[in-house]
Amino acid sequence: MLNHIENLILYEIQKGVIKERDYTYVKNQLFRLLQIEPTDQSVAFESIKYPSEALDPILDILEQKQILDGSQVARDLFDAKIMNVFAKLPSDIEEIFFALYNQKHSLATTWYYDYMKHLNYIRDERIKKNEFFKTTSVYGDVEITINLSKPEKDPKSILAASKVKSLSYPKCVLCAESEGFAGNPSRDSRDQHRLIELDINHESWFLQYSPYTYYNEHAIVLSSEHRPMKINQNTFENLLELCEQFDHYLFGSNADLPIVGGSILSHDHYQGGNYVFPIEKADTLSLWEKEGITYELKKWPLSTLVIKSTSKDDLIHKAVFILDKWKNYNNPDLSIKAYSDDVPHHTITPIARIKDGFYTLTLIFRDNQTSDEHPYGIFHPHADKWHIKKENIGLIEAMGLAILPARLKEEMKHVKAYLLNKKPLPELAMKHEKFANDILSKNQVDGQNVDHLIEQKIGQVFVAILEDSGCFKQNKEGLDAFKSFIEDELI
Ligand SMILES: [Zn+2]
Repeated sequence: MLNHIENLILYEIQKGVIKERDYTYVKNQLFRLLQIEPTDQSVAFESIKYPSEALDPILDILEQKQILDGSQVARDLFDAKIMNVFAKLPSDIEEIFFALYNQKHSLATTWYYDYMKHLNYIRDERIKKNEFFKTTSVYGDVEITINLSKPEKDPKSILAASKVKSLSYPKCVLCAESEGFAGNPSRDSRDQHRLIELDINHESWFLQYSPYTYYNEHAIVLSSEHRPMKINQNTFENLLELCEQFDHYLFGSNADLPIVGGSILSHDHYQGGNYVFPIEKADTLSLWEKEGITYELKKWPLSTLVIKSTSKDDLIHKAVFILDKWKNYNNPDLSIKAYSDDVPHHTITPIARIKDGFYTLTLIFRDNQTSDEHPYGIFHPHADKWHIKKENIGLIEAMGLAILPARLKEEMKHVKAYLLNKKPLPELAMKHEKFANDILSKNQVDGQNVDHLIEQKIGQVFVAILEDSGCFKQNKEGLDAFKSFIEDELI
């Protein structure tokens, strides 16, 4: 145990999270927390690459001593408490952040991102386990990640979660009140979680990084108030203001309706980061310009209009106008419908960036109707693709980065064995039979190309899922209707 403690302290000194001066203090804190006899015994120590290299063996020992019960959730709750011994208070972190920000914006974000990695809040070693690949399509490359970083709940953790009553404080996982929160078996610990308070259009918001980053510097910006997601004028204003405050980032918002929104509709938040998504590289199909605003219809499976201007106010005004038009747009030939009685179906997934001196808003038109044929959503992944993904197409996926479930890793091993050796698919992978036969019918599969063929095929399914989610399809009928809508009503 002692050597792992020394390794962890050395790591945090090397990374600048603490200073050598803090050594005795943190060691004594850890003795107490880990329930071991204080000692001045010196032990050999070594450099480690990730905090987990010290944390994992420490947690193993705590399990042997029956201080932990052996569940994954108990480990995750406890290692956050170990790391919190090293963490500064929120106000100290903000002071460093804004001192760097005043020199250069990216210095602040890089420092904060690294700091949260060094505190193991962003679990970098788990994120590196995610599979990532690009596949080609008629829309350009799309990107796929198979999310292996979120551990699946083991039976002990599920049982523990079932025994705790649901929390009323903090109201949700995003709430700013989560900062430093100890967690319980049903709610992740946030002991070493630290937020940066921002003023966005005279309102208090908080910046954080996602603990399960899906792309470089995956930022989340949350309102200080727990209130539902809403796409309106404030959204466009806030996203563009964020781009001004962090000019090396893009920012977007999930839509505010079920089916076409993200997984959390109850707390107003945006996502952003230091990353260029496939949608930004998509070709332009048509271009218009009027009164200082450029309109670009994108060749993209979801119905996407990019508007640009050097005037922020003009652009926001136009975006509100477009949102309002879309909210009331009907096209029965394409099954596009604005309302069922009083229930609205239409909203927008917006993305903002400042590029080459232009304020840019990418507006993705969404419709959340369901039908007897598509009870989960007409413009949602259709049932024939659920073997790859069934969940909502939120902001990140709409931009061309698929986040696919961890189960696929295991299931694709069976598909691979089937493709190479005709080894029958087990029950859990039977849903991929048609997918596998499609690959076989079009390719000569061998040990060299099998992984590539599977990846490309997954990419094709993802693109088809995005096409399902598009309101105006990328065919003549769909594009003509989309152009008419843009020319007749939006410009
Ligand atoms: Zn909340």
